[in-house]
Amino acid sequence: MGIETADVVIVGSRCAGTAAAVPLARAGREVVLLDRARFPADALSTHVLVPNGVAELERMGALERILALNPARPQHLRIEDGDMVVRERFRPFDGIPYGVCVPRKLQDECLVAAARDAGADVREKHTVTNVVWRGGRAAGVAYTDADGTERELHAKLVVGADGRRSRVAAEVGAWTPYRGSRNGRGFAFRYMDDPQAGTERYDEFGVYRAERTVALTLPSTPDGRVLVVWMCPAEDIPSFRADAEAAWQRKLDGDPAIAARLAGATNMTKVRSTADLSAYYRRSSGRGWALAGDAGHFKDPVTGNGMRDALRHGRLLGEAAATTLDDPFALDAALRRWERGRDQDTLSTYHWGNRESRPEPVGDLVREVLRTFSGDDAPDVSDTFNRARTIEAIISPDHLVKGLVAALRRPGADRARILRQVARELPLEWQARRNRRLDGFRSTRPTGTERPDWTVGPAPGPPSWRVAATGAAPADVRAETPAAA
Ligand SMILES: Cc1cc2nc3c(=O)[nH]c(=O)nc-3n(C[C@H](O)[C@H](O)[C@H](O)COP(=O)(O)OP(=O)(O)OC[C@H]3O[C@@H](n4cnc5c(N)ncnc54)[C@H](O)[C@@H]3O)c2cc1C
Repeated sequence: MGIETADVVIVGSRCAGTAAAVPLARAGREVVLLDRARFPADALSTHVLVPNGVAELERMGALERILALNPARPQHLRIEDGDMVVRERFRPFDGIPYGVCVPRKLQDECLVAAARDAGADVREKHTVTNVVWRGGRAAGVAYTDADGTERELHAKLVVGADGRRSRVAAEVGAWTPYRGSRNGRGFAFRYMDDPQAGTERYDEFGVYRAERTVALTLPSTPDGRVLVVWMCPAEDIPSFRADAEAAWQRKLDGDPAIAARLAGATNMTKVRSTADLSAYYRRSSGRGWALAGDAGHFKDPVTGNGMRDALRHGRLLGEAAATTLDDPFALDAALRRWERGRDQDTLSTYHWGNRESRPEPVGDLVREVLRTFSGDDAPDVSDTFNRARTIEAIISPDHLVKGLVAALRRPGADRARILRQVARELPLEWQARRNRRLDGFRSTRPTGTERPDWTVGPAPGPPSWRVAATGAAPADVRAETPAAA
């Protein structure tokens, strides 16, 4: 068996893995990415990025290639709920005023190319099977290469950027999240050709709220296509599996606003769907290892922020490691600081996702709160997706009170129902704010936004101890189990 060495080995070569690799490679570090896929390869994920995510593509050097694919570049967000319409221009990030929605098969190939451009060594059809340990530290990985040969690669840092079913998370003893939330929504989506291409409506990412379902229209790639997504109650997903066309038509029939938006659009691809979307946080750093992207944290995709977070915090991880790699103590401290920063940045969106993933209508109240944002074209509620401010700062007490008063004053309002909604929502609001501001790092204290019975399924095989030929004896490693790291 051949053993080689590198500074960093990264398992997984999509959003988080490539974003982490770029700053490391630019700093002159030797980085190897191992991915079991051969690119271009699809992923079961919709793929909207608003300007803050596009800015990450630019930072890692992938944007030029992405733009060469001729994506639509919408500059607005539209939210419709009954007679309530908000239309806003996105806040630009790093001078980028638009979002993109590029199919993963195309997008991720650009990410891989950007990592290679930066000097990283990306190896496809390479499947990682184990983390290798030395003296209680992660010291590399064992993998099977494209020819089926088993090999080892030793490194100062092992990054698991291998998605929700992370082999690395299982290997380092972090598979079981320390907190999580059951999702109530499922996703069903397909591409359509869009007769609105070139019009004002094609310059918008559209969000259509109708009772228990939220629909999205996401101008996509190449220009002229639209990705249509139903974020519906999870229990609707089996009907898409049984008869996708009938289920699709029922959704269209149930929402006149989206039916009007898509009038004349033709179906181009089959419907894809999933309801397996529990949100979670895993312990994401330890001695010589880190979990980036979905491997460490996932939130309901209703927030449209998973790729942005994988790109951003992948980059920040690479930057933090690039300067500390040669000192194990400094490296481990930097990894922990990185994890803490990721949690601070993602917690309010996590709670927002948990609340938005409830398939119950909170109709009147949400509609009136949203209406307090309508008025001009300036960025405001769109900052929720764009993360220019925290959710708590955007949906401020001022907006909440104004929305409540308007809901109560509306002719024919069911005031008792609205007040019941307030009584239910207020504690959630308070706990989400408190969790972000006060609760400790890796807190396991449950909050009201989190719903029990979440699952991440069984680990992809039990961890199998593999100890580097040099270094500590197996007993030393087992005494310092990764679970205790
Ligand atoms: C239905 C759905 C819709 C979504 N919609 C959006 C959206 O619109 N916008 C958005 O921003 N986010 C969205 N997300 C979230 C987004 O898909 C993820 O946050 C993002 O893909 C995370 O990237 P990643 O690099 O961490 O992991 P992944 O994209 O999962 O990549 C992991 C890689 O690791 C490789 N790998 C796994 N195991 C091994 C192994 N043992 N050896 C070698 N390689 C391995 C895989 O082949 C894969 O290439 C959605 C998610 C879902 C499920």
